[in-house]
Amino acid sequence: MSRALIIVDVQNDFCEGGSLAVDGGSQVAADIGEHLGRHGQDYSVVVATADWHVDPGDHWSSDPDYRTSWPVHCRAGSEGAQFHPSLAPALQHVQAVFRKGEHEAAYSGFEGTTEAHGRTTGLTEWLTEREVRGVDVVGLATDHCVRATALDAAGAGFRTRVLTGLCAGVSPETTEQALAELREAGVEVVEGAPA
Ligand SMILES: [Zn+2]
Repeated sequence: MSRALIIVDVQNDFCEGGSLAVDGGSQVAADIGEHLGRHGQDYSVVVATADWHVDPGDHWSSDPDYRTSWPVHCRAGSEGAQFHPSLAPALQHVQAVFRKGEHEAAYSGFEGTTEAHGRTTGLTEWLTEREVRGVDVVGLATDHCVRATALDAAGAGFRTRVLTGLCAGVSPETTEQALAELREAGVEVVEGAPA
C-alpha cells in the first residue's frame, strides 16, 4: 500500500524558545529526521504542513485561553514560522509544503494548500493524485494540529496512523483525550515510533 508521511507544523514557534512552545518539540524535529533515515523507503511521498498566519482574526489574542485563542505565532514569513533547524534532514525528503491559516484558524493540514506550476492544490487532492492510500501523521502538537490532521485523514478515507513517539502535545490531559478520540475515529495510534 502506498503510504505518505505527513509532518505537521514542526516550526520554531512550536518548539522550545518559540512563542507557543511545546515541550519536546525540538526533539521531535530531530527524531523525525532519524525516522526517515531508517524508514524513508516505507513512504511513497513525504509532505510537511505549516501554520502560516497573515491575519488569523481571533485565533491570535493578547489574552489567549489556549483552547481557541493563542499568543501571536507563525506570522507568515517570520523566523517563528520557519521549520525548526533540527528538521533539516527530514526536509530533504519533503516533496511539498502545505500552508494553512492565512486568514483564519486552521488546525488541520488538510485545510492547507501548496503551489506548484501556477496551480494551488489541497492535501487530499495532492495525495489522491499520487495514489496514496495510507498516511502516518507526526509532529506538533498531538492535541491540536496532529489531532485535526489525523481526523481529517481518516475522514477522507486514508488508512491513518499517528506515531506518538514522533509527536509532542501541549498538555498530558488533552493529549490523552485526543488519542482516545483518534482511536474512536478509526485511527491507529502507534505508541512510540517504529524501531
Ligand atoms: Zn495557528
